[in-house]
Amino acid sequence: MQYLEAFDWSRTPLGPKHAWPQALRTTHDIMMSSGFAMCAAWGPDRTFLYNPAYASFLGARHPAALGRPMDQVWPEIWSDIEPFITRAMAGEAVKLDNLHLAMTRNGYVEDTYWTCSYSPLRDGDDVVGFLNIAYETTQSLAAQERDRVNDERVRLALSAGAIIGTWFWDLPTGRFTIDEPFARSFGVDPALGHEGLTLEQIIQSVHPDDGDGLTAAIDEAITRGGSYAHQYRVQRRDGKYYWIEANGRVDHAPDGSASLFSGVLIDVDERRAVEAERDRAIIALRTLNDELEQRVSDRTAELFKTEEALRQAQKMEAVGQLTGGLAHDFNNLLAGISGSLELMEMRLAQGRTADVARYMAAAQGAAKRAAALTHRLLAFSRRQTLDPKPTNVTRLVAGMAELIRRTVGPSVELEVKSEDGLWPALVDASQLENALLNLCINARDAMPNGGRITIATTNTDMDRDAARAHDLPEGRYLSLCVTDTGTGMSPEIIEKVFEPFFTTKPIGMGTGLGLSMIYGFAKQSGGQVRIQSVVGEGTTVCIHLPQHDAEDSEDLPREIRLLSRAEQSEIVLVVDDEPTVRLLVTDVLEELGYTVIEAADSLEGLRILDSDMRIDLLISDVGLPGGMNGRQMADAARRSRPDLKVLFITGYAENAALGDGLLDHGMAVITKPFPVDLLATRVREMVSQ
Ligand code: ADP
Ligand code: MG
Repeated sequence: MQYLEAFDWSRTPLGPKHAWPQALRTTHDIMMSSGFAMCAAWGPDRTFLYNPAYASFLGARHPAALGRPMDQVWPEIWSDIEPFITRAMAGEAVKLDNLHLAMTRNGYVEDTYWTCSYSPLRDGDDVVGFLNIAYETTQSLAAQERDRVNDERVRLALSAGAIIGTWFWDLPTGRFTIDEPFARSFGVDPALGHEGLTLEQIIQSVHPDDGDGLTAAIDEAITRGGSYAHQYRVQRRDGKYYWIEANGRVDHAPDGSASLFSGVLIDVDERRAVEAERDRAIIALRTLNDELEQRVSDRTAELFKTEEALRQAQKMEAVGQLTGGLAHDFNNLLAGISGSLELMEMRLAQGRTADVARYMAAAQGAAKRAAALTHRLLAFSRRQTLDPKPTNVTRLVAGMAELIRRTVGPSVELEVKSEDGLWPALVDASQLENALLNLCINARDAMPNGGRITIATTNTDMDRDAARAHDLPEGRYLSLCVTDTGTGMSPEIIEKVFEPFFTTKPIGMGTGLGLSMIYGFAKQSGGQVRIQSVVGEGTTVCIHLPQHDAEDSEDLPREIRLLSRAEQSEIVLVVDDEPTVRLLVTDVLEELGYTVIEAADSLEGLRILDSDMRIDLLISDVGLPGGMNGRQMADAARRSRPDLKVLFITGYAENAALGDGLLDHGMAVITKPFPVDLLATRVREMVSQ
């Protein structure tokens, strides 16, 4: 603070120090020798003086503030303090307690509080300035407030019965003073509590198993200082042990030694009991869960076995279909081989050895072709575990072409059109081969008088609308399509072909499993199967598979995508396997402000209905894939949601499934085709009922 002493006042309105009036000099000397923060203003310009203790209030304004007009030093509080200054200048001694001032000392505004005085400074009879002695009370006021809040808390806690005792432990003397409730909690004589006990006396009441832990916790808190909390059991007069929590703090004296250890006792007996009960429940739940998981995994394994059996049965069907075509081929090849051998034998007997080489080559060629065919057949019929791998579908199709050609026979022309640079797919290759072969067998069966099969592969970038029409998430897909020029299918047939065991073929000819397996496989691979068909012209069946991108993070499960949408007004679940119908219904409903969830079959529909998600209305097609028709699905759902409202959409032919037009309460039906506004009116009526 030499700066303040050495300051050159000659450049201020006060002039050089040696020429100051006696009163100013005295004031200045008093200020400089005082430990209290003081400042003064002198003369018409209110030239500002202050002492070292005051400098710290000024923050960054020191030292520039020295010798400046005071109103410029404190512009932000000037209007607050000017009235007191005016009074002091009028000769009054002003004293203020906890004056609030919003000060900017360190670059931000702070609420500060001051206990201070403004005293007039005279030169002769005239008041020419004032002296301000200031003591900042911001901190102590805050501490007072904290104490008040703490007192209030303790009072509340005591009155709420949570605290069952308080203690003060004066560490230097070792005297332990406790209040009456504490004494009762520890089963000791309350009179002793006032006189003071020793720690040993107190620990006598602690459960033998908890004593060492308690001593260790106390030692640790004393060494560390600060807060302390420890739970243990103490014995009361009734001889029983109760759980308590001691909650306190250790204060250290300025020399660093522990001085006071005080705190409260909290009754945690009930809480401990509840916690123990909760822990027991959690363990029980966990056990139950484990059992459940075991049961689920048993069931899943069983299901897999059944599914595997189904897959195998279906593959055998394909193999059976193959053998017919292959027997013919093999006979041809064998004829080629045995004929060549016979001719060789003959030529050798005739001594015409030069011809032998030709027959040998013919026989070997036929044998090679037969071997290749057998090889492919073996590869195909071998049991392979489900194993999705990045697969080049172009190569897969090319590898199958020969086998397919043999299977469909000579009356059917086979054409393969592969898109260049087809994207890879993540699929089980042997299942895809199986699917392709089955599609070609179906195509052949639809062309008893011959025709053409076209196998085409294409890359498709599905935008939002296209993806929606295909009931797929937006993204890149590769499509494998098999087109025939056969009988085609009516819409009624198309509706059913994905059902397991649906077949139009004579007994022994078809199992009705081909398309249902293909459907399951495509869905399982994250894709979709679509059929386009015109009766009398032909059929195209396409398998769409998502492009495999190694970097791609996994898509969100479908359920979560659905659930995250369903937080608005009324929620309508639309179940229809025909994407265009779903698209139409969804558009109409969303236009009306409903939130729509879609499902493509009864299985998916039922899964959503079985969840605890809110559903205000179910709109369902009657003919559905997935094992149940719409009516059966609705009935199943009503077991857990008895009030579920259901609107069926149906073609005339399906009326029978609804039960002779007798519908339960809360169910209604509209027939396809329907005008859009009829649908809208129906939905509004049903939801608002
Ligand atoms: P399956 O071939 O054993 O009958 P699928 O599930 O493969 O079983 O086919 C079910 C039904 O779908 C067939 O019975 C047939 O009526 C029809 N179908 C399948 N593919 C075609 C197609 N390419 N052309 C005409 N109808 C077909
Ligand atoms: Mg079939």
